[in-house]
Amino acid sequence: MVFLEEEYWKRFPLWKDVSKDEWFNWKWQVRNRFKTFEDVEKIVSLSEEEKKAFLKTSDIFHFGTTPYYFSLIQRFSKEDPVYRQIFPSLEEIEEEVQKDAYLDPFNEDIMSPVSGITHRYPDRVLFRATNFCSVYCRHCMRKRMFLEEERARTKEEYERMFDYIRSNKNIKEVLVSGGDPLTLPNKKIEYILKNLYQIEHIDIIRIGSRELVVNPFRFFDEELLELFDRYDKVWLVTHFNHPNEITNITKKAVKNILSTGTPVLNQTVLLKGINDNEKTIEKLMRDLLKVKIKPYYLFFCDPTKGVIHFRTDLKKGIEILEHLRGRVSGLGNPIYAADLEGGLGKVPLFPNYLLEETEEYYLLRNYENKTVKIKKKKGKGGGRGI
Ligand SMILES: *Cc1c(COP(=O)(O)O)cnc(C)c1O
Ligand code: SF4
Repeated sequence: MVFLEEEYWKRFPLWKDVSKDEWFNWKWQVRNRFKTFEDVEKIVSLSEEEKKAFLKTSDIFHFGTTPYYFSLIQRFSKEDPVYRQIFPSLEEIEEEVQKDAYLDPFNEDIMSPVSGITHRYPDRVLFRATNFCSVYCRHCMRKRMFLEEERARTKEEYERMFDYIRSNKNIKEVLVSGGDPLTLPNKKIEYILKNLYQIEHIDIIRIGSRELVVNPFRFFDEELLELFDRYDKVWLVTHFNHPNEITNITKKAVKNILSTGTPVLNQTVLLKGINDNEKTIEKLMRDLLKVKIKPYYLFFCDPTKGVIHFRTDLKKGIEILEHLRGRVSGLGNPIYAADLEGGLGKVPLFPNYLLEETEEYYLLRNYENKTVKIKKKKGKGGGRGI
């Protein structure tokens, strides 16, 4: 966990006059975000290669970061996990590197009964509220969305989305995502939560947002906390990828969220050169638990155009789970999953702990590779194959 001192941002000449009230104000963070390389150069000068990457990628994917997230960079180089998540690189547009990738690998747009909704599983739908984000992550699997103009949806679009959910009683859960839905103004969020909350068959409103990572001050906003408290079906799923993203400010923000009765879970994407090793993921899981966030998923990186250079070998994630099991609290063991192309859904992947099955027994191993036989039950219903 990173400890940020009182008014630490004043060390940067650009922010030396920024007050605590401003820095801790989520709207100030959004308003003052960096959108061009000229903005970045107010802090640090860029190399020709870096500038070239900005210019060449700008028409396919936005650059953007809040001052807070930018301030978490510890070294201005590709080795730095925060730098790497926000700074463009030429690999994103190299045809040779990206040739096996897709704009919409999971057919989210095709499996969409009404614009803005993806319905893949019987009991839950994905509800895309906006295509705006306060930070644009280079590894984003919805990069295609940002080719369109930045905007929230129109009222008519939202109404059609609510109608679809209202008329499908099998839907128990709505996953409100984006872009980042918590970049919307409170009024808009209230409108969405209220409408979903009033649908009787909806049990869970899951908000997928990265604001806790890139703009934790969002959760110092009493009005938003009050909405979480009032529309009491909300779960928050966030997206931390590296321990350098977890600070004492994160901890305070999580405490505020938990005080509203909203559980906080995390999804991490396994990213080459950022977190694709046992030590980093172990520390990340431990630090998440320290601030009371439950690790939910660890995802194999999707085959999205402009992102595939971040992809590891599929087995890397299984090796990491092997490392975590037994070493880290069960609470800190996420589900490793790959999303199947063509919209076939997520598949969990595990190390193999069931080594053998015979007529008489199952052979299991533990995390230290000690093995134990479990006898099969005889007679009716006794284990016949698996
Ligand atoms: C990931 C995803 C979900 C949620 O899946 P969980 O396993 O419940 O987290 C739902 N709908 C779509 C379209 C998804 O991609
Ligand atoms: S916050 Fe989420 S939706 Fe927005 S750019 Fe990052 S990964 Fe993509």
